Amino acid sequence: MADSIDGNVVAAKSFARFGVTHMFGVVGIPVTSLANRAMQLGIRFVAFHNEQSAGYAASAYGYLTGRPGILLTVSGPGCVHGLAGLSNSMVNTWPMVMISGSCDQNDFGRGDFQELDQIEAVKPFSKFSVKAKNIKEIPNCVAQVLDRAVLGRPGGCYLDLPTDVLHQTISESEVESLLSEVEKGRESEKLASVASSEIEKAVALLRKAERPLIVFGKGAAYARAENELKWLVETTGIPFLPTPMGKGLVPDDHSLAASAARSLAIGKCDVAFVVGARLNWLLHFGEPPKWSKDVKFILVDISEEEIQLRKPHLGLVGDAKKVLKLINEEIKDDPFNLGSSHPWVAAISKKVKENVSRMEAQLARDVVPFNFLTPLRIIRDTILGLGSPTPVLVSEGANTMDVGRSVLVQTEPRTRVDAGTWGTMGVGLGYCIAAAVANPDRLVVAVEGDSGFGFSAMEVEVCWLYTETCYFYYYP
Ligand code: ADP
Repeated sequence: MADSIDGNVVAAKSFARFGVTHMFGVVGIPVTSLANRAMQLGIRFVAFHNEQSAGYAASAYGYLTGRPGILLTVSGPGCVHGLAGLSNSMVNTWPMVMISGSCDQNDFGRGDFQELDQIEAVKPFSKFSVKAKNIKEIPNCVAQVLDRAVLGRPGGCYLDLPTDVLHQTISESEVESLLSEVEKGRESEKLASVASSEIEKAVALLRKAERPLIVFGKGAAYARAENELKWLVETTGIPFLPTPMGKGLVPDDHSLAASAARSLAIGKCDVAFVVGARLNWLLHFGEPPKWSKDVKFILVDISEEEIQLRKPHLGLVGDAKKVLKLINEEIKDDPFNLGSSHPWVAAISKKVKENVSRMEAQLARDVVPFNFLTPLRIIRDTILGLGSPTPVLVSEGANTMDVGRSVLVQTEPRTRVDAGTWGTMGVGLGYCIAAAVANPDRLVVAVEGDSGFGFSAMEVEVCWLYTETCYFYYYP
């Protein structure tokens, strides 16, 4: 047939048609042609040395853009290396799609080249997986993985493309009609709105609280809820505490920021309004001794499962931005503001001032050879001098990350990506590349421990190739 095309072209066309603009990965048999075809259709392919790092990049790209990050791998070992990125996206609840070529379906079970039951292998690390068993299934499978990655709680999805399917052919006109048909049936978010009685309850709890606290995390950042959060904080005068990646949704240097008085804020608050952050290890499971045993949690999360797991005083299932809009509407009718002389606000503010001045005294000392504080102060001051748009800060390595979290200042949303919920080390260079690709207008600054850097150090070459400039300073 004059207009016949193979499975590689069908897959590339499907990704391009359904809005994919970037892919991260490592090419080889049987997916090299897929990558080439994708590039011919205008998709930028970012080639890595190892699928692990490419997978980390895809996961961070999903978080930073709100669109699934795409990882392309070869079969067998390539797929196994990619599981690092896929699992990282699942645990952080970031949207990502891993696509792997797989061995010929007719040779499976006979010891074929790079043979693996990949659908089985990805199961514990993905929210949805599908194999295109025939070329005609490719468009629908592509749409399914792209949609499922972002629907509800975001996460990782997997698409298996067997070698024989990639080599099958079909007429171009048939593919066009398949694509149009699939496009019409694509799934979109259909979340029920939160009942107004629940919104009223949440606002009444905040209004009556003596020591309220607003906590927000990377789910709120993913939801792009920064304007709604800032309005809520400033209208009510309630102190706030960001999680590490929630930093910047409301600027760290805001007068109501409680980060420098974290122990007091979480230990003494009586109502905690937690938006897009799990009560997991990072928030001490919401339990004593770090939290008061009487604290009433109001949790806002897109995942009903999450609310059921934590059993808060009040759970609001929905998109953070939308729920906050409803909360703010409710407050607007009868606004309240604690004011700076409120005993709780004043106590937090006093503690913040004490702790900040203690830290500044330590930071003011130039310690050579460097300790952690001196270089971090230099980096902080340099970043602050750059103005807006502020750089994306990539941080990993246990000590570097911990000290950096308190010293480095985030004033804009989604400008910090770090080892995250899983404490995944080795993510740094992949995250740098993802951040540069996702935010071409922002500088990317990576502050990494040498161990974290070493996991994926070879990808520094990819940084050079795919970003316009890459400066590298190493303090042993
Ligand atoms: P952090 O590490 O910043 O504490 P977590 O990763 O623990 O944050 O929690 C993020 C939470 O945000 C997850 O439970 C996830 O279900 C939720 N989430 C993801 N997207 C949204 C959204 N659009 N609106 C509300 N919650 C969301």
